[in-house]
Amino acid sequence: MIVYVNGQWLEDTEATVSFQDRAFVFADAVYEVLHIYNGALFKLDLHQERLQKGLDTLRIPYRANDLKPVFDELLKRNPGVQRGSLYVQVSRGAAPRAHGLPKLKEPTIVAYVKPFQPDLRIWEQGGRAVLVEDLRWQMCHVKTTGLLLNCMAKEEALERGCDDAIFHRGEIVTEASASNLFIVKNGTLLTHPNGPWILPGITRHVVIELARKEGIPVEEVQFTKADLLAADELFLTGTLSEVAPYVEVDGQKIGNGQVGPVTRRIQEAFRSETGV
Ligand code: PMP
Repeated sequence: MIVYVNGQWLEDTEATVSFQDRAFVFADAVYEVLHIYNGALFKLDLHQERLQKGLDTLRIPYRANDLKPVFDELLKRNPGVQRGSLYVQVSRGAAPRAHGLPKLKEPTIVAYVKPFQPDLRIWEQGGRAVLVEDLRWQMCHVKTTGLLLNCMAKEEALERGCDDAIFHRGEIVTEASASNLFIVKNGTLLTHPNGPWILPGITRHVVIELARKEGIPVEEVQFTKADLLAADELFLTGTLSEVAPYVEVDGQKIGNGQVGPVTRRIQEAFRSETGV
């Protein structure tokens, strides 16, 4: 696999970054994952916009738009990747370890693409989730590489024989370990409002637009664990997982335990939007 690291195109086995890179030492970095459908990047503009906001928040001096030629070249060098993912990470760069933000001119940029095939089991039958207390920080809207608690929540789900973890802060349900979350109640979609407790997902945004076009009402409001367990339907949204139905939480069935009709409509609308 050929990867991009700081202006160079290298075999993945040859690609390295400094041990002093601030991504490695402090998670001082932001990243994006994009879905490649039919050899093209899906919603590139929205991913670039979110990346730019993250860079600005962390005060990393870099323009996300400058990545466009790198992405084009990555796709050109990997023509076999018709369906896949693109990972890009921008860190502040390498500097001797110190907490203050060094004024670095050269961020560290890493980007690569690889083939991806969706998990049809969850798409078709629905997944199973566990609830996990959200102990992450108050800046979940910034897509930094500091994902350890997301990883630990996912691991807890896997160890309990489930597919994913759903975070809650006290009684309030926020999002999942790597996805946003929607419930369906009496034909209306409910999802946690954007803010410091969730990532403003691109898929979440697309789903809200598609639902409104389909005439399905959407409310961006907080709801509780009890609301989640009493929901008619549940699905998670993410760049790679798309619209993933979930039919069980903490061993309790959601609705009748089957993937519901509203979820199916959203899945179909999303699939048409991707052109796959
Ligand atoms: N929340 C978290 C914590 C995530 O890691 C992700 C995936 N990056 C999402 C939500 C979904 O965001 P998107 O639809 O942009 O992939």
